[in-house]
Amino acid sequence: ADQSSSPTIFRSKLPDIPISNHIPLHTYCFENISEFADRPCLISGSTGKILSFSETQLICKKVAAGLSNLGIKQGDVIMVLLQNSPEFVFSFLGASMIGAITTTANPFYTVPEIFKQYKTSQAKLIITQAQYVEKLRDAGDNYPKLGQDYTLITTDDPPENCLHFSVLSEANESEIPSISIDPDDPVALPFSSGTTGLPKGVILTHKSLITSVAQQVDGENPNLHLTKEDVVLCVLPLFHIYSLNSVLLCSLRTGSAVLLMQKFEIGTLLELIQRHRVSVAAVVPPLVLALAKNPMVEKFDLSSIRIVLSGAAPLGKELEEALRSRVPQAIFGQGYGMTEAGPVLSMCLGFAKQPFPTKSGSCGTVVRNAELKVIDPDTGSSLGRNKPGEICIRGAQIMKGYLNDPEATAITVDVEGWLHTGDIGYVDDDDEVFIVDRVKEIIKFKGFQVPPAELEALLVSHPSIADAAVVPQKDEVAGEVPVAFVVRSNGFELTEEAVKEFIAKQVVFYKKLHKVYFVHAIPKSPSGKILRKDLRAKLAAASPTT
Ligand code: AMP
Repeated sequence: ADQSSSPTIFRSKLPDIPISNHIPLHTYCFENISEFADRPCLISGSTGKILSFSETQLICKKVAAGLSNLGIKQGDVIMVLLQNSPEFVFSFLGASMIGAITTTANPFYTVPEIFKQYKTSQAKLIITQAQYVEKLRDAGDNYPKLGQDYTLITTDDPPENCLHFSVLSEANESEIPSISIDPDDPVALPFSSGTTGLPKGVILTHKSLITSVAQQVDGENPNLHLTKEDVVLCVLPLFHIYSLNSVLLCSLRTGSAVLLMQKFEIGTLLELIQRHRVSVAAVVPPLVLALAKNPMVEKFDLSSIRIVLSGAAPLGKELEEALRSRVPQAIFGQGYGMTEAGPVLSMCLGFAKQPFPTKSGSCGTVVRNAELKVIDPDTGSSLGRNKPGEICIRGAQIMKGYLNDPEATAITVDVEGWLHTGDIGYVDDDDEVFIVDRVKEIIKFKGFQVPPAELEALLVSHPSIADAAVVPQKDEVAGEVPVAFVVRSNGFELTEEAVKEFIAKQVVFYKKLHKVYFVHAIPKSPSGKILRKDLRAKLAAASPTT
């Protein structure tokens, strides 16, 4: 096919809207606050404490002043290493108010994982919980020294040499420095491995996040219709952009209350849904599985739920149907996102104010003010409807690029501004997007990213391993789990258990290897690229080692 011929471009069925993406993100989020200043904004699932919108905004301002007092300047990066909590919200928006950037990380990360991100992002301080301080403090000589190289702030009782969060939250809000923020200034720096390689800092600007939030909730007939009557479940971790954007920022913008849960526990979750009359449940497929299968669900009143939004990984039709019977009044639908895309590419139009009928299994329709195309992954030429190919997206919401990595940026965002997702999907006759496969390396365990390149680098650092490759294997509960093909160095003995343990010690729980296959060689292309497709095919066959 001819690449120069004009591509088939898919757009939302809803009209484009004016988007005020020239202002800073925090200004945008609180723009309509006068309509709901005294209504609940943040509800703590653990303490039951409720903060109104005006209280929340005030503490964000105090934290902004506090960060500035500690020497954080415009353009500086802070690391937030927290479970979902009000302090997460204050830190992120407080940083935004002084033009600083938040890099979010999983508090369950191991020390090397945390400090790698810390170093790459050049963070100036870490905001965390006391329970995680020990691992940071005793990290060893190869890592930054607490108190010397960086400041550590805890949201609970501070261990020695740490500051308490009150140095931020009790600062005088009048001390916020007056600065001017450019729409293209970064505000969030989540890490993602994208289509290939190691995790990289994804630069999301004020403009990208505002555009993405507006694409979902702004306008006369928003794609995701949230109101100040809604209570939105925030159990998915805020360090992932799905929860930060589609749950937190969208709720702040629309005046919906956010129910913050530190961690997932089915009994507590059900109890909180019932008690706080949760109306919008943002979930991931493993959570749908838990809700669909767990007998406890029958004992609780879930009649308040009107929307179930699933994202981060594919949701099977059977699973959707299984949960549907338990919350028959709710509209079910998916959002399809990718950190680099800000993150939402498409969303179910059943959530719109004037909803469209939607199909199960669909990932919705491309968001407004954006263009989506499907290309032949080999030739790059644009494909029409119902033809699977690589999904590409263009619009003001996508990332500015990867931090200090122009090469990786160029591979992902082309000169015409199209972000290449590495996902294979098609658009049907009703403009609905279906994801059917992935050409990129990433493995998704319960929606969490497992970058094979990271595990492969660890594997080959083992003295008895000559070569290795990591690929996804299908799993009913997690969606996918990482498994390794390993070539032993000549003459070395090495058991599967030893390999698994070697990795498990160094990585967060969801990156652990579930199986190790010993092989004589890793299949590679002439240019040395691992032929992952071949390995995935081997897994599907009866005995992967032959
Ligand atoms: P992340 O950057 O961690 O959000 O991961 C993005 C990737 O998750 C996408 O490129 C897809 O491969 C996958 N993904 C996200 N949402 C969906 C969905 N609704 N259906 C299928 N895959 C999804």
